[in-house]
Amino acid sequence: MPDAIYSMECMTCGAVSEVTDNDAGPGQYWSLSHAGRNSDCRVFKLHTETYWQTEPACGNPHANVKRREPWSEARR
Ligand SMILES: [Zn+2]
Repeated sequence: MPDAIYSMECMTCGAVSEVTDNDAGPGQYWSLSHAGRNSDCRVFKLHTETYWQTEPACGNPHANVKRREPWSEARR
């Protein structure tokens, strides 16, 4: 499980960077590149997703249920 998933969104045109695990750098680079190619685009939103993971206690009827990995489904 990644510690965090990052992406950047242009607040002018709605363009979105790629989504990356554990490193906001590619999104920041994308923002600079996007602003360089689009002179009206200068404000960006950093999207950061983090996750909690819980485990059922021994004896819980859900203890043997296979776990999904929802963070992989969160990607666009
Ligand atoms: Zn833009």
